[in-house]
Order: sequence, then C-alpha cells, then structure tokens
Amino acid sequence: QQIANYEPQNFNQLPIEQVVDENGNPVILEVPYPGRVIYSHIWKVNVGRMNLYLMDTDFDMNSEFDRQITHQLYGGDWENRIKQEYMLGIGGILMLKKLGIKTDLYHCNEGHAALLNLQRLVDYVQEDKLDFNVALEIVRASSLYTVHTPVPAGHDYFDEGLFGKYMGEFPAKLGISWADLMNMGRENPNSDERFSMSVFALNTCQEANGVSWLHGEVSKKMFAGIWKGYSWEESHVGYVTNGVHMPTWAASEWKALYEDTFGKDFFLNQSDTKFWEKIYTVSDEDIWNLRMTMKNKFINFVRRDFREKWLKNQGDPSRIMSIVDKINPNALIIGFARRFATYKRAHLLFSDLDRLSAIVNNPQFPVQFIFSGKAHPADGAGQGLIKRIMEISRMPQFLGKIIFLENYDMIVAKRLVSGVDIWLNTPTRPLEASGTSGEKAEMNGVLNFSVLDGWWYEGYKFCKQAGWALTEKRTFTDQSQQDKLDAATIYSMLENEIVPLYFAKNSKGYSPEWIQYIKNSIAKIAPHFTMKRMIDDYIERFYDKEAKRSKKLVAHDYAVAKEIVEWKEKVAAAWDGVSVVSINETIDHNSPKTGEAYSTEIKLDTNGLGTSLAIEQVVYKVEDGIEKMVGTEPFKVVGHDGNIVTYELKNKLREAGVFRYAFRIYPTNALLPHRQDFAYVRWI
Ligand SMILES: *Cc1c(COP(=O)(O)O)cnc(C)c1O
Repeated sequence: QQIANYEPQNFNQLPIEQVVDENGNPVILEVPYPGRVIYSHIWKVNVGRMNLYLMDTDFDMNSEFDRQITHQLYGGDWENRIKQEYMLGIGGILMLKKLGIKTDLYHCNEGHAALLNLQRLVDYVQEDKLDFNVALEIVRASSLYTVHTPVPAGHDYFDEGLFGKYMGEFPAKLGISWADLMNMGRENPNSDERFSMSVFALNTCQEANGVSWLHGEVSKKMFAGIWKGYSWEESHVGYVTNGVHMPTWAASEWKALYEDTFGKDFFLNQSDTKFWEKIYTVSDEDIWNLRMTMKNKFINFVRRDFREKWLKNQGDPSRIMSIVDKINPNALIIGFARRFATYKRAHLLFSDLDRLSAIVNNPQFPVQFIFSGKAHPADGAGQGLIKRIMEISRMPQFLGKIIFLENYDMIVAKRLVSGVDIWLNTPTRPLEASGTSGEKAEMNGVLNFSVLDGWWYEGYKFCKQAGWALTEKRTFTDQSQQDKLDAATIYSMLENEIVPLYFAKNSKGYSPEWIQYIKNSIAKIAPHFTMKRMIDDYIERFYDKEAKRSKKLVAHDYAVAKEIVEWKEKVAAAWDGVSVVSINETIDHNSPKTGEAYSTEIKLDTNGLGTSLAIEQVVYKVEDGIEKMVGTEPFKVVGHDGNIVTYELKNKLREAGVFRYAFRIYPTNALLPHRQDFAYVRWI
C-alpha cells in the first residue's frame, strides 16, 4: 500500500536563498485578502541563469489558518485552492512589482496562475487610469496560456459563492459588474456555470497552446464552445511540444560521447539534427558498450536500492537476495515509470498473466520489467494499481522478473531512463498531453515502445526504425475491450518483433539491428525533443509575435489599444441591427456540375459599420454522413451605398462530392491578432 508522507522541507538544505531588503531583513510581501492581509516571504532559486521566486506564507505574521496556504501542492479543499491560486496570481504580480521586475510577456502555465491577469487589469485601471476594455486589450496582447490537461475535470472550477468570497472586491476595482467578472470565467456567459480558471485564462490571453500536436487538437475541441460560431478546426489554440533539458537527463557518459563525437558547439545547438546525425560515425561496439555500462550501473542501483528499502520494510532477507540475484544485465529490460494515474494504464501489461509469464520466463530470451511510480494521495484507484503490481511481482513466476522500485523521484527516474533497454508507455489515447519521460529515454539510447499519444505521435513519425508504436486506431468504444486488445498487441509485438530483434546477437554479443535502432533514435528523434527546440518554438510561435504586437498597442499612450477598443465597442453596439437585405445565387442546387462557375451576391444593411464587416462562405464536405469543414471563401466588397454594402463571391465547383455550405458575417480589422480575439459571428 502506498503511504503518503509529508515531510517538512529543511530550508537550510535547499538550494534557495531568502530575498532580503537593503538592511538584510526578509522582504515581506503584503497581499490583501478579503478582511485581512496575508504576508509572504520570498525565496529565490537560481535555475541556470533564471531566477525563480517562490512565495511562502508559513511564518508567524499569518494566522494558523493562512500559514497552510503554501504547505502542500494542490493541498486541502477548494477554499484552500482558491487561496493558493490567489496567492500565486494576485500575490505573484504584487511580488514582481515589489521586486521591481518588469516584463513584456506573461506566460500562464495551467489555469492555476490565471488570476495574474486580474491583478494586471487592476493595475492598468488604477495606476494608469485606463478604461477596463483598454486594459483588457493590453493584458491580452501580452499573455500566453498553456494548457496541460486534456480532461475537462482536471481544470479548476470555483462555485460562484466561494469565488465571490475572495474576489468580491475586484469588480469595483475594475469598474465592471460582478456578472461581468463571472462571465469572464464562463463558457456560456450569463449562465449559472461555475468560474473556470481555464476559460478566464483564454479570455485574458491572446494566445493559447497545448503541449503536443495531438494535445493541441484535443484542446481546440475542448475549448471550442467558448468561441461560438466557429468550428474547432478554426481555433487559434496552437501547440508547442514539450521537450526535456538534455544536460539534465542525458547520463554523463552519453554527454561525454556526444561532446567527443558532435563537438563542443553541440551544447549550444541541441536541437540541430546535423550534430546528432554524427552518431552514425560511432562504432556499433562503442554504442553497445556504453549501453551495457549504463545498464550495469542501473542494475547496481536497483540492487542497492532494493536491498535497503526491503530490509527497512522487514522483508524476508532470503527472498530479497533471490530477487536481487535474478536481475540480469543480459535480459531485455523494459522500464515503466510515471505517475500512477489510471489513464496511464500501468495494469495493461498484466491482463494475461500466463502469457506474460511465458515472455519473462523464456530461458533463451529473458525479459525483465522494472516499474516505478507514485499515485496521487487522493487517487485510490491509482494506488490500487501499485498494490496489484506489488502483488504480482511477489508471485513465484514473477519474482525478480517484475520489480517495483519504491519512491519514484528524479534520481530513480534518471537511472531508469538511462539504464533500461526499452521505455514503455501505454496511456489511453488521447489523454497523455505530452509525456516527457520517453523523451528523456531518447537522450540515452533507450528505445520507446508506446501508444501513439502525446509526444510519441510526433516522435515515431520522424523514424519508424527507431522504436515501436501501438496503433492509434481505436477498435472498441468500450474501454475494457480496448484495454484487452491493446494488451494482446503489446504481448505479440514483444514476442514477434522486439524480443527477436534484441536477441539477434552477433559473435560480439550484440544485435547490430538493435544498435541501428538506437542510432536512428538518437539521430532522428532525440533532437526534436530538447528544451532548446521547445523554447525556440515558444519564441517563434508566440513570444515574438506577442512582444511586437503588445509594443505596438501601448505606444503613444496606448493609442492603438484605444483605437481597437473604440472599434470593438462600435461593432458590439451596432451588431444586433445588422441585417441581410438580399442574397442572389447562380449556383444550381438541383444539378450542380463539377467545374461550373457560380457567383453569389449578398447585400447587407451594415447599420453604420460599413466595410468593418466581412462575409465568407463556409464549405463542408459530407462523407459517410460525416460533415468535415473544407475551408472558407471570402466575399469581396463590390458596392457601397450608404449603409448598404454589396458583397460578391465568384467561385467554381472545384471538386466532385456532396457538399454543404453556409454564409457567415464577421467583423474584420487588420489590427486583430486572430478571429477568436473578437468572435462575433452571424450565420446567414
Ligand atoms: C520525467 C518525470 C515525470 C514525468 O514523466 P511523464 O512521462 O511526463 O509522465 C514524472 N516524475 C518524475 C520523477 C520524472 O522524472
């Protein structure tokens, strides 16, 4: 049974320093909460060249009740959660101000921190005397929201009453109503929905992204309801696939080889495939010897760790020794370690114990599995999985063949991702937003065998002779049936492909094809999943763009921001009075012919908005009864008579098939970053 221990941090042993004032006294941050001030100490961590600031309410200026705010990550009830997120978002901005730190962009990771934009709005309204809408325009232009969770239930929602208890004073500070504030956190404004931190983040950040291509698509669908009138494919939500910090996760032995082979410049160009390609110049023998060094190092670690932990837990010493002696560097060792969330399906491998037993007990081609991981303290089902794996590992046929390492942490992780032969990952698709441990494995010549989910959906495509994938097709809607099928696929891929490849050993004791797989994975996959590539993507796709645009908006006393707001307010006021005067189409609905030209003319009464309005045709293709959006065709303005604007579309029936289409009116302005920024849409 997993036991959750909450050990207090020993601050003297952490690589952190307290932020102090000029007299050497601790800086005390004052964060106004309703009815009281909550105080926070500030700690600084140097992460490479970055400063990371941490807030800490656990000291005697706060009541017992408030000291607990920073005790546990995600700890306590919803009230504690809102107090934490208040400290993180509102307190976080106040802390940056207190430290005199100015920044161009705010990157909100997960909705938890989203209240930072609320405090920023307050500052623009109170200190710069801006109207709320102008403040919002500037805040939006300079912030990015990254979502990490594909499950709606994983997002924070606060009941209106609880939210009001903490945020009740904010509307007055902003010059808006309580309903206005609540609506910023609702998918359906003016409903009785709870306040969603993610919706608030989307409404206050110009850009948003998921953490892999596939997760970007899932996020577009998950958030589609916010921008009504647009289909999910049109969403501005993008993606940046997570990467891992190579210098942290590649073993020193591998880094030495990389430096020798790729040259010193490699460390400044970690995402450049040109360097990694040089792995092909390393001899097979050197690669194999390095792998065996890492494997033996790992096995020694497991033996030591296992002995210590089991003896401490009063295990039977003779049994422990027999387990430890069974760990075999010549076996194909498969690692699986992660949080034990049920969607990660750690149980999958154990669906058919007889078949599994045959795989691990093959005397000619031995296979061993090492598991590790922790479940969330509140996740009973996840803890049940750990218990089950422990039980299985103690069955006679699995002793020493299936090993569970306790207390998964970064040290265990680093040994595992460099010491095993294969890294296994079997999540339920598409719930693995990215996954990163498999990327760590890539940096160490360890091959991935994974469901095509998260990062591996992209990774596997770079090279198929560099790992294995469980098909992305879903055969059963019933999850337990799908689990059975996936398990059977894992067994048969192990039996028929993976084990034979590994044991196709030559006279020197290794499988040349296996080494080729390792080289392929290092050359073709690893470079795409470094932190360097990830940061570059953020800069290119979001930071640069937003930095430029927000600079433009604030210049000359916020002139452009004010211009946009004035225009938006004008459109919003006139919108309901816009009406269609006439639609004339030449298209022959009864017998349309492929290749035939057609034209459509629409006259609008723009209610004073003139050419601020645009029209487009939205085209769907219908295949097997399913409508799929093909694209949009813009109309041209061809006439302008007072309030009446004439639009025309000349087009061709380019493709055969069954199509549906409709027309859509929307406001257009080159100053907008994208359509969802001002998502007024009318279908006609
Ligand atoms: C890398 C790592 C994780 C995250 O792994 P995923 O594959 O993204 O689930 C979790 N815990 C530890 C200790 C890690 O090193």
